[in-house]
Amino acid sequence: MEIIHISAECYPIAKVGGLADVVGALPKYQNKAGKKTAVVMPYYNTKFTQNKSFRLDHRNTVSLGGLLYDFEVIQLESDELGYPLYLIKIPGLMDRENVYGYTDDTERFMAFQKAVLIWILQFHDKPQIVHCHDYHTGLIPFMMTYAHQFEVLKEIPTILTIHNAQYQGQFSFDKLNYFPEYDLSYSGMLEWEQMINPLAAAVKCSWAVTTVSPSYLIELRSAANGLEWLLDNEKGKSTGILNGIDTDVWNPATDPMISKNFTKQTSLSGKRNNKMFLCDKFDLNPEKPLFAFIGRLVGEKGAELLPHIFDAILSNPKLDANILVLGSGDPTVEHQLDALKEKHSGNYNTFIGYDEVLSHIIYAGADYLVMPSRVEPCGLNQMYSLRYGTIPIVRSIGGLKDTIVDISEENGFGICHDNTDTNEAVEAIERAIELYKDQPRFKRIRKQIMQIDHSWDSAANNYIDLYNKLI
Ligand code: ADP
Repeated sequence: MEIIHISAECYPIAKVGGLADVVGALPKYQNKAGKKTAVVMPYYNTKFTQNKSFRLDHRNTVSLGGLLYDFEVIQLESDELGYPLYLIKIPGLMDRENVYGYTDDTERFMAFQKAVLIWILQFHDKPQIVHCHDYHTGLIPFMMTYAHQFEVLKEIPTILTIHNAQYQGQFSFDKLNYFPEYDLSYSGMLEWEQMINPLAAAVKCSWAVTTVSPSYLIELRSAANGLEWLLDNEKGKSTGILNGIDTDVWNPATDPMISKNFTKQTSLSGKRNNKMFLCDKFDLNPEKPLFAFIGRLVGEKGAELLPHIFDAILSNPKLDANILVLGSGDPTVEHQLDALKEKHSGNYNTFIGYDEVLSHIIYAGADYLVMPSRVEPCGLNQMYSLRYGTIPIVRSIGGLKDTIVDISEENGFGICHDNTDTNEAVEAIERAIELYKDQPRFKRIRKQIMQIDHSWDSAANNYIDLYNKLI
């Protein structure tokens, strides 16, 4: 392989958020564009790993603070993903149900990263590029550059893509013995604010840094959860590359998960059918515009404002709207969102949890998608919603700023507000309700957004250009 992507998540094997969607799609499009690309990730006990056949590729041992772990590298037998998939199986450490959230995540991802490098070390043809995603793989560029054991990998260019700088994976220098031997005078490359910081180490040690949208790259220089100064200093090797979407998976004309397939030409009946399905299932009124939220219920998404925004809209007798929420996260927000069901029965409902199929039906059946995000590195939801003819209502930040143009501007097609603020979001929804009353314009915009091309077909080449420069 020429390019190897290393990641904690990859759709459809294991998904928590957008990272999985990107790593699951980008390599396929890079292969289509002529680069030999593969993905390596941990083996978790997921539905996918339990139902598929794998062949053994490599067997070895990784040490961690004096403990030895046997591991296997297994490869997916079928070529259904469009790229070779390798899983690092470390019994007792990685083979659990969830991707993250364990007290020994530091040990898990440390062992994973070392195992990946041990595996690469014995390749006859070494990769031309090692592409790391987020902090879980952030110590790889350091180990490739400074660890004696991996010295022969030193000349391979490394890239870090930051999907989310909020999470950095810090741990204390007490765990320095997890690292393979290196010249200790380079310990500063690992350090940020007296801690070992995998994301900071990756920013320092990788040959190039990318963020998942151009605006996010600029915003990180003033808001990066403590890494602002570092990211500003490393701007010379940093680029913002907007994510694409997998238009094979996210295609309303063929999507097997939605209740009726549709194209731009058949969007009127197709969207109506999916909306009816949702309204039946969630006891909503199909005559009213349907607003939806899909996502993690966390501060970055502005989630704690959602109960206030939705209550304000639904309590106003002059406003006609239905609202449906799909998400999980902060238990207080989950509870507040659920508590509104009784008050606004018939106009409001929730599904607290994670449901991939339901998310597709909502993209297909809703009229509007609400995203009052505080931070949005790229945001895929708005791009899926465009493709499925659902008009996004967004706070202009990060990737939302780069992809959505307000209807007040020439050729605008979305509804934007400047701040993560209840009143601004309510006002934006009021504008959407007004637009809905003007059905010819509403339908024109719906057709317009379905034509916007956010496919990886073009976006994948931006990475290939960067690889070629580094090689
Ligand atoms: P992030 O990675 O910050 O969560 P993104 O917009 O990049 O945000 O990607 C979110 C992805 O996760 C999308 O594919 C979205 O549809 C999906 N998603 C988020 N929450 C849920 C949920 N509760 N059920 C199903 N899919 C979800």
